[in-house]
Amino acid sequence: MSLRYFDPAIDKILKKELKRQQKNIELIASENYVSKAVLEAQGSVLTNKYAEGYPRKRYYGGCEFVDEAENLAIVRAQELFGAAFANVQPHSGSAANMAAYRVLLEPGDKVMGMALNHGGHLTHGHPLSFSGIDYRFIPYRVNPETEMLDYEELRDAALSHRPRLIVAGASSYSRAIDFKRIKEIAEESGARLMVDMAHIAGLVAAGLHQNPLPYADIVTSTTHKTLRGPRGGLILTNSRALAVKINRVVFPGLQGGPLMHVIAAKAVCFKEALSDEFKLYQKRVVENARALSEALKNRGYHIVADGTDTHLFTVNVKKTLGITGSEAEKTLDAVGITCNKNAVPFDDEKPLYTSGIRLGTPAVSTRGFKEDDMKEIARIIDAALKRRDDEGFLKRLKNETHALSEKYPIYED
Ligand SMILES: *Cc1c(COP(=O)(O)O)cnc(C)c1O
Repeated sequence: MSLRYFDPAIDKILKKELKRQQKNIELIASENYVSKAVLEAQGSVLTNKYAEGYPRKRYYGGCEFVDEAENLAIVRAQELFGAAFANVQPHSGSAANMAAYRVLLEPGDKVMGMALNHGGHLTHGHPLSFSGIDYRFIPYRVNPETEMLDYEELRDAALSHRPRLIVAGASSYSRAIDFKRIKEIAEESGARLMVDMAHIAGLVAAGLHQNPLPYADIVTSTTHKTLRGPRGGLILTNSRALAVKINRVVFPGLQGGPLMHVIAAKAVCFKEALSDEFKLYQKRVVENARALSEALKNRGYHIVADGTDTHLFTVNVKKTLGITGSEAEKTLDAVGITCNKNAVPFDDEKPLYTSGIRLGTPAVSTRGFKEDDMKEIARIIDAALKRRDDEGFLKRLKNETHALSEKYPIYED
């Protein structure tokens, strides 16, 4: 029985969500619109299959076809990132990181990761995350003047703390990261290097950001951010010895049956990412992020690190307008622009408020938005934030947002 008849309540929710995704302008930097091919693979009968283990070494019968799907996902991931080994089973980016830590660390070991306020992720040592509970994280920061990664400070800190591991990669850092440089620091201080490229994997795949594979012992990623695949995780390495450990830690160490429908969708995503079209898409993502950050800068907004080399950037709205990130997020929601509040370096607001908003262009670029549209979005953002108390005005502005997004429909045949 179809969803529509069996469960109209859920069916209605799906329709409302599709409409929301169609009408609003999506600037959440970690979100994207997957292709219909990815949706089809993910919503497939492969969800019915138990396949604990790895291709040809399963604990269940009947795995001959899901084995083919997982093998395709693995070889495509290897080709895409130039990796000798890939594990495509992690259910999420956080699960991938947990596995990588288990391979590289013992509980209580010292690790250096980018501070959350400066761009890092929860799984890089937040006290409430397993990472901060299981390991002793020492945060590194950006330079207070440039708001960019301070490699000299990182080197000094690494040489004095002597961590077992340095984690590079971020969730809200707009500038390119020099993995080669961090590898040199890691070697000098006797640490291993793990790169979490969850956000920039699509840029790396397209050759628009330095590839961490030649430098990192282990690279982890999500597949659903710039990479535009199904929600999930990925672990890569060039070391056979580490690959053996990674496989054992993911299964049976941390997970049971892999999500074979998601793994098939990952294979589709990797095939898409190997195409020339995907390279053009990523180029547009970066161009759009630059255009949006410059348009806002021209309107007087403080852009953290003074701009972007990637798909995202953070705006310090407190410094610019004296409002919190949460107030800005709510105001933009009211005009149909979706983003998230985000801490800025050395933020003095609490995490529930923050001083910034993070804006990213992967989703709008998938829809086909171009640089002129970015100027239009900057105008709407600026107008909304400046007249945030004028409800009637915000309502009218919402119509302008919807008119703009109607130009670029999603999931049409
Ligand atoms: C998004 C993200 C993750 C976590 O991914 P989930 O799939 O949400 O668990 C890990 N690391 C970084 C840097 C991220 O940006």
